[in-house]
Amino acid sequence: MKRLTTFLSALALGAMALGGTALAQSKATVGLAMPTKSSARWIADGDNIVKVLKERGYNTDLQYADDDIPNQLSQIENMVTKGAKVLVIASIDGTTLSDVLKQAKSQGITVVAYDRLIRNTPNVDYYATFDNFQVGVLQAQSLVKGLGIPENKGPFNIELFGGSPDDNNAYFFFNGAMSVLKPLMDQGVLKVASGQMGMDKVSTLRWDPATAQARMDNLLSAFYTNKRVDGVLSPYDGLSIGILSSLKGIGYGSGNMKMPIVTGQDAEVPSVKSILAGEQYSTIFKDTRDLAKVTADMVDAALSGKTVEVNDTKTYENGVKTVPSYLLKPVVVDKSNWEKVLVESGYYKKSQIN
Ligand code: BGC
Repeated sequence: MKRLTTFLSALALGAMALGGTALAQSKATVGLAMPTKSSARWIADGDNIVKVLKERGYNTDLQYADDDIPNQLSQIENMVTKGAKVLVIASIDGTTLSDVLKQAKSQGITVVAYDRLIRNTPNVDYYATFDNFQVGVLQAQSLVKGLGIPENKGPFNIELFGGSPDDNNAYFFFNGAMSVLKPLMDQGVLKVASGQMGMDKVSTLRWDPATAQARMDNLLSAFYTNKRVDGVLSPYDGLSIGILSSLKGIGYGSGNMKMPIVTGQDAEVPSVKSILAGEQYSTIFKDTRDLAKVTADMVDAALSGKTVEVNDTKTYENGVKTVPSYLLKPVVVDKSNWEKVLVESGYYKKSQIN
């Protein structure tokens, strides 16, 4: 009997110890730093990661920084002070976080760069994102398809827009797009009437729609008074909306002025509606549910000392190290497949779109 009691209490102690560890780990807080609520994609990102992490028993501290760099910095400092075990960061400017991340590292905090690479620091452990070069390739391929190349021989006038110069992704999108467009420019099929070509000329600080709209206004009045623009490479739906307003402002999309082919990214609801209305031509869908899941897997593995799954260890050099990454696949969406990709997958309800 004594033996049985000893055995039972040993069992109970063991269970308590186990339960204790599991509890300690599952109660860990994950700090989630998102850039802005001005774009629906980041709201979806925040909601999705919180949902997945909560389901797995973590506490979350989700903060949005209104695209203000000092604001994001102090939010992350707070997370460190309050004892977060992991930081998941979608940076505003990927080069400004070195000091706080150094402090985080000294406290043993795991740092995951979320969607956007964090640059110029050794203190970023993993990167969860989409294949950003491929995003640009898909945008450009869609632009080319919309123009009807190669059946239509051109030449076509296009203009190029880039994302925010402090966002590493912007260069990947642009370079991916140029890998498709440059050969066609060299053949004379595509022409950029403004001559504005590199990221130093075409970027859009903070991905601001009004900035893109103003630049499109200037391009139209400076270079297109006696010719039409046939296509615009736009890297993000918000910019596309600004660009489309500018085009509509001088009559494109009505009468005999056909709307140029305009690309986008993020499959945000207003842009999907615009695609259905025959204005924006395409967008790129990046399933934030999958990104949330990959990120939560990273958090789980890192906190339980398991190997973190990555599928790319070569591409994302951050100025100090190559950050082990997990890249998801982006999907191009246009009038032909929006329902299948966005509605049948459950990402949107049909009633949200039409
Ligand atoms: C994201 C894009 C987004 C852009 C503007 C980029 O870092 O990868 O999905 O369109 O930021 O928010």
